[in-house]
Amino acid sequence: MIQESTVEPELAFTGRNETFMKTCVYPGSFDPVTNGHMDIIKRSAKMFDKVIVAVVKNYSKKPLFSFSERMELIQKSVKDIPNVEVESFEGLLMDYVHKKNAQVIVKGLRAISDFEYEFQMALMNRKLDPNVETIFLMTNHKYSFLSSSMVKEVASLGGCISGLVPDCIIRDIYRKLKQKD
Ligand code: ADP
Repeated sequence: MIQESTVEPELAFTGRNETFMKTCVYPGSFDPVTNGHMDIIKRSAKMFDKVIVAVVKNYSKKPLFSFSERMELIQKSVKDIPNVEVESFEGLLMDYVHKKNAQVIVKGLRAISDFEYEFQMALMNRKLDPNVETIFLMTNHKYSFLSSSMVKEVASLGGCISGLVPDCIIRDIYRKLKQKD
């Protein structure tokens, strides 16, 4: 027989003796946001009171979309999900997580190739603050091959990106690539 837990769910989850909203931060470059990202955002929105999609400002690769354009494209794509906010951050992710009073960092995992880097990152973040958990959501198999760079490559060669990114941003992507040429 399964014994009923005597631990308050709130305490079991946070390990802290206080009640507060469960907030997660989903960080990334989102250059641009794809349906793979959207899948992670929607699933997180079901698990957390608030999801903060945090667009990294100091992105090492040269992005196609400016930082404000990347934010706008996500904002357009999540406008119907009430508990999702789009923000930006610079510097150490853990400092930002503290500033937002978040308890969890969400990451998506596509393949084993994502794992090693993400694992190192998660352990480093745990060292910085063991009270903040990193959780990994396995990609939906439909999007396991999907990355922002793949979308840019296909679109720049004139391929169809329908189904790969939210419909409402398809035009923006082609327009941006045209401007670049
Ligand atoms: P990319 O690796 O495509 O440049 P980002 O830095 O924007 O992506 O990724 C932000 C987060 O989203 C990372 O945790 C990444 O693993 C995850 N992610 C990216 N694409 C997918 C996908 N197709 N399915 C699930 N998670 C994804």
